[in-house]
This record gives sequence, C-alpha cells and structure tokens, in this order.
Amino acid sequence: MAIRTKLVAGNWKMNGLRQDGAQLVHTLKERVAEAGGALGCDILACPPATLLSEVGGILAGSGIALGGQDCHAAPKGPYTGDISAEMLADLGCSHVILGHSERRHGHGETDAEVRDKIAAAWRAGLVAILCVGETQAQRQAGDAVETVMSQLAGSIPCAATAAKLVIAYEPVWAIGTGLTATTEDIAAMHADIRRRTPNGIRILYGGSVNAGNCSTILTLPEVDGALVGGASLNADDFWAIVRSYATE
Ligand code: PEP
Repeated sequence: MAIRTKLVAGNWKMNGLRQDGAQLVHTLKERVAEAGGALGCDILACPPATLLSEVGGILAGSGIALGGQDCHAAPKGPYTGDISAEMLADLGCSHVILGHSERRHGHGETDAEVRDKIAAAWRAGLVAILCVGETQAQRQAGDAVETVMSQLAGSIPCAATAAKLVIAYEPVWAIGTGLTATTEDIAAMHADIRRRTPNGIRILYGGSVNAGNCSTILTLPEVDGALVGGASLNADDFWAIVRSYATE
C-alpha cells in the first residue's frame, strides 16, 4: 500500500497585509530549516490572492508549498474579480482549495461548479483540495454521511486520482467556532470518504484544529493531515500543528 504523506495546510482566508504575511512565512521558513528534514509532513500555505506573489517569493526553495483559496473554471475571460487556475500556477502555486464551505454557503457554489473548478485546477497542473462537510442541522438530523457522500459524488470529476486530489473533511459547524467533531465521528467519516474515493487519497480534517487538540486529532489513523484556518495565522500555533508529525 502506498504511504500517504501527511499534509498540514494553512488557509489564511481573507487575512493578512503584506507585512504580516511576509513575517509569518519568514518565521515558518526558518523553523523548517531548523527542523532539518525531520518534519514527517508536507506543509502548504494558502494566503489571500493579494499575497501569493510576495509569499511565493519568500517560500521559494523552503520546502513549503504555495496554494490558492479558489479559482474560476475558465482559463481566462470576462470574469471581473476572478482568478484562473492558470494564474495561480503562474504565481508558483501547486495546490488550490476548492468548495470551501465559506464559498459554498457565502457564494452559493454548487457541487457542479466545484467539479468544474477541480477540472480547471487539473488543467493547470494544480492539486485540488476539495472541502466537504455537513452543517449542524444536517448532523443533528442524522444526515451527515449522506450530505458528505452527495458532495463527493457531485464534486469529483471522473478522472480523479490520489495524486491530483486531496479531500478535506470540514464539518461546517466546526469551522472557526472552537468546536471539533469527536474522534469517533472523524474516524468514521474519514473511513466512509475513503471507501468512496480513489485509492491512496489523502483525507485531511479541518475545523478548529489548534495547538491544543492537534495531537489527538491528527494522529488518528484515517487522518492524513489538517486544513487549518485561524491557527494558521500564528506561526507558533501553526508550527505546533506541523510538529504533530515530527519524526524526531
Ligand atoms: C478552514 O477555514 O478551513 C478552517 C478549518 O478554519 P478554522 O481552522 O479556523 O476552523
């Protein structure tokens, strides 16, 4: 069985001015250099689009990858305010987060739109990080698994492989709230997702992962890393999460 390299990804969302972003990644870059290769995971920074160029320049050669937070499905055209997958790749991105609940719920993105965006990411050579997750009402109604499976069925193009796609299971009610799913619920949902996705795919957990709870959540056998929002904005907190996978 192929080893699934762990991944800790920071989703900065709409946070950070140039100086904050530069300081944060300079610190992370120093810590990676000090750790000298004993990290046990891949690291990804997904700053806002305004910081991709500058942050990408600082991260060059650091071993920390760069990702976008969304992309348009078209390669170019009359889409004011949007960014194409090709533009992200041109800035040095290797990954893009797609279908985040803040896009699904805040911008009305549908599974079909997310699927087109994933295809666009692949067209540009990017790895797509597909976010799925149920709302609190859906979990309380006993529909959590059905909701997530339906999102997977509707959002993943048929050409999916483990090399091109990462899944992030993020219960909507756990994002930015300080609440986390129980370890039993996380393990069960990850196992369900694994049964319905390509062999060897990485499945991250996201939803209020922080320095205090990371060692419990990230060491679950079905969890291949984390998508981290709030705690990725603080170098010490993000680094503590990365260190969950330290090999020495
Ligand atoms: C996210 O935005 O993907 C996320 C998980 O946020 P937070 O860690 O702040 O809950």
